[in-house]
Amino acid sequence: MASENGAVLKSIADMLANGLKTEVEPFPETDKEFAEILLQLRQLDPKDLESKLVIGGFLDHPYGPDRQRCLECMYYLVHRRWCDLPELSVPVDPDWWCRLWRI
Ligand code: SF4
Repeated sequence: MASENGAVLKSIADMLANGLKTEVEPFPETDKEFAEILLQLRQLDPKDLESKLVIGGFLDHPYGPDRQRCLECMYYLVHRRWCDLPELSVPVDPDWWCRLWRI
């Protein structure tokens, strides 16, 4: 399990490092906009990593002047290095970010 997560983490890191364009904006300002992104994610094949990254608006570095990142997000599981938002459910690096970031 741990090594499988490591392989998935690497594959996500590679896609982001290779310049995958993700939908960083618009940032969901309201619960309705947040729910609309979740709805789009729910329509994906759960194994479709690339689409999850694109729709989630992933970055492989902190975001904005506040340097938001997974580490401080309510969905981040520190010990598993995992995003626990059910619609994402992927291994993540603590210094990454996506537009579903919440505290
Ligand atoms: S929701 Fe986004 S910012 Fe939060 S842990 Fe998951 S990937 Fe990171």
